[in-house]
Amino acid sequence: MMYLDNNATTAIAPEVVASMQPYLTTEYFNPSSAYEASRGPAFAIKAARAQVAKFLGGVHPDEVLFTGCATESNNAAIFGVMRANPGRRHIITTAVEHPSVLEVSKEAAREGAEVSFIGVNQRGELDLDAFVKALRPDTLLVSIMHANNETGVIFPIDEIARIVKETDPGIIFHSDATQSVGKLGLDLTDRFACVDLLSFSGHKLHGPKGVGALFVRRGTRIRPFLCGGHQEGGRRAGTENVGHIVALAKACELAEEAMTDVTAMQALRDHLEASLCEKIPWLEVNGAGALRLPNTLNLACHCIEGESILYQLDAAGICASSGSACTSGSLEPSHVLQAMQIPFMAMHGSVRFSLSRYTTAAEVDTVIETFPGIVERLRRISPYWDVARRAPREG
Ligand code: PMP
Repeated sequence: MMYLDNNATTAIAPEVVASMQPYLTTEYFNPSSAYEASRGPAFAIKAARAQVAKFLGGVHPDEVLFTGCATESNNAAIFGVMRANPGRRHIITTAVEHPSVLEVSKEAAREGAEVSFIGVNQRGELDLDAFVKALRPDTLLVSIMHANNETGVIFPIDEIARIVKETDPGIIFHSDATQSVGKLGLDLTDRFACVDLLSFSGHKLHGPKGVGALFVRRGTRIRPFLCGGHQEGGRRAGTENVGHIVALAKACELAEEAMTDVTAMQALRDHLEASLCEKIPWLEVNGAGALRLPNTLNLACHCIEGESILYQLDAAGICASSGSACTSGSLEPSHVLQAMQIPFMAMHGSVRFSLSRYTTAAEVDTVIETFPGIVERLRRISPYWDVARRAPREG
């Protein structure tokens, strides 16, 4: 099996499994208990927090909150900021966020917030002019993702956060960095020092599912999302998932060490992209020309249907995705590609390959050998293909 769907989830690293093992077996004690046996788990959480803080550019360990997933981090950021600041009601986000920001923003609007959704151009880049124009005296929160999960297009959140703070230091800046953490450097004490809140997830960087983190800069006005016990300094109640927290920290440590592998991963992605574009007519890269993640390749195969491509790839032992995994199963085209105004015939035939540092050259070569044949076969039975080839290109 060739796994090229790493934006959906990644294989858990063997070192990560080993690091969490003791906390799933012998070290099961509640870290908040008073006896000696609990000291190990309590210390493990402290060490994990310090590790993640270092990974984020040397932030204070108390600025790292452990959560259940990036979805929870995003909910905690948006609802937590709203609850702490009832005086301001305006939120700015983008039209291409993951549902864990997009749907939360819509829910926030139902609870009385006024939300501006900023659009993107055909390359998937944010409309910065529209963003600047959207800032208002009552703007409370700006939530803009770092890298798009579908196209890999990177938004300049360092620059955007700076504009936000220069306009009004009272505006809180949040970023969903779930896809960029571990692939791009994220120094929250230097280049990204204007970012107040940042979400990410363990399972996108070779950690386990069911653990995430929210960076909360000291002084940020935010209320807890999960109320109850005193865990996480009273900011996220619930007995800590010790094994998963340790695992997340280990995954961050490994990602930091493997930053050099990102170059090799990008070379493989570029090879895949160039080879497929050469072999397949009427193939376009969604997000071409924009700054993109080094692992993501979103292709528009004109005149065929994304789901059929996925079935054929699956039959050939290749795992890929059309749209995001969270929306697959619906025939509604991706909201991200719609926002980019990708032509209809290209949007419906979009497929995403996403690599990891474990992806091999042999796997990429298999895709290069297999994929053009799949596209050709599907086009042969496509009623649109013959018509489209003779007609002038749309878009
Ligand atoms: N944000 C982005 C950009 C994502 O890609 C994902 C996962 N698809 C999430 C948030 C949600 O992550 P989790 O599964 O940890 O809730």
